[in-house]
Amino acid sequence: MNAVARQRVCVLGATGSIGLSTLDVIARHPDRYEVFALTAASRVEELAELCRRFAPRFAAMPDAARARQLRELLAGSRTEVLDGKAALVELAGHPEVDSVMAAIVGAAGLEPCLAAARAGKRLLLANKEALVVGGALFMDAVRAGGATLLPIDSEHSAIFQCLPEDRSTWRQRIDHIVLTASGGPFRDRDPATLAGVTPDEACAHPNWVMGRKISVDSATMMNKALEVIEARWLFDLAPEQIRVVIHPQSIIHSMVVCRDQSVLAQLGTPDMRVPIAYGLAWPERIESGASTLDFLQLRGLSFEEADARRFPGLQLAWAALRGPEGSTAVLNAANEVAVEAFLDGRIGFDRIHALNQATIEALQPGAGATASVAALLALDAEARRVAGEQLRRFQR
Ligand code: NAD
Ligand code: MG
Repeated sequence: MNAVARQRVCVLGATGSIGLSTLDVIARHPDRYEVFALTAASRVEELAELCRRFAPRFAAMPDAARARQLRELLAGSRTEVLDGKAALVELAGHPEVDSVMAAIVGAAGLEPCLAAARAGKRLLLANKEALVVGGALFMDAVRAGGATLLPIDSEHSAIFQCLPEDRSTWRQRIDHIVLTASGGPFRDRDPATLAGVTPDEACAHPNWVMGRKISVDSATMMNKALEVIEARWLFDLAPEQIRVVIHPQSIIHSMVVCRDQSVLAQLGTPDMRVPIAYGLAWPERIESGASTLDFLQLRGLSFEEADARRFPGLQLAWAALRGPEGSTAVLNAANEVAVEAFLDGRIGFDRIHALNQATIEALQPGAGATASVAALLALDAEARRVAGEQLRRFQR
């Protein structure tokens, strides 16, 4: 018998790319982790299969009909099935949960993330959109709740791994950070041909296998834009302290440039199980399942500037950070609408940026737009409405 209590983990977005990688790491360490709850929005059969394998105390789906189906599939098992958005919030803040893996995609993850933050959980944050929307309010909830916020995004995990545990030293120590970007599948493609690319082409990432939304974001580099905003909050940086460089091999996951110009980098094979394992075990290290980086197989590490003509969306990050409070939430909402429209075949790939730009221009958040969760959710809804209106101009 292990005398040490196992960490009880709630995985939000269990059927997704990050959710499954998290369960892969957890399965390697049955002595350390116990799955307490699993949630997903779709893929009922897959969620049922995960419940049979990990025997969580709870499972939840926002949609009542899907939850009913899951309940039928799991009849006679120990897993209790909950439904509705409120169930995700309840499980993220459940008193018996130690750690929450936030792996929902999009602003839909904001409320469960806030619940985990307020309840003082170890919050493993993959769901970057929640922080991009929540901003200062999110960070305030983390502080007020006494939560431990652990970045899962590989770049932010890299920065976090390069910094000392004592957060109070960060400001003094950091000159700036450099987020690396692979450049996605269209790094070398003639920008004039981008209008015609298909969703499958946009989702064929050279180095990472991910959900479709973040794959499209990587192709437009809006993913990096969201990560710039994410870094601003996670590490309390000014916009000008965040730089981006294209590094096609995805071996250096990001870097901290210290005041004395010493550069600290974190390297490894591109495998999300590394940052996930670090988040689960921090401040310890556990086996992640990732393969060892073979330096002799590397044909070189290269770096290039992100071309603003090819990736016009990247600059929107700094513009939104310098704009009125709430601008980042508007940008995120516009982008969620644009990516969905692209994946559904309603707009061309090159119109994603046009729609984001048009939405930002059409909607300036007013005073108090980020003052409360209700205000933020209203701003998010308004931005989606405005983006939907703008969408008509760009539809095929
Ligand atoms: P995914 O699409 O593979 O999975 C998303 C999960 O969230 C699924 O389980 C889905 O059922 C659930 N979900 C979707 N919409 C929901 C809603 N409205 N309410 C509740 N649950 C919902 O996505 P992913 O690639 O695993 O990415 C998840 C998050 O992690 C994203 O924010 C992404 O930016 C971030 N992230 C992913 C990677 C990666 O390698 N995949 C890397 C870094 C960061
Ligand atoms: Mg990333």
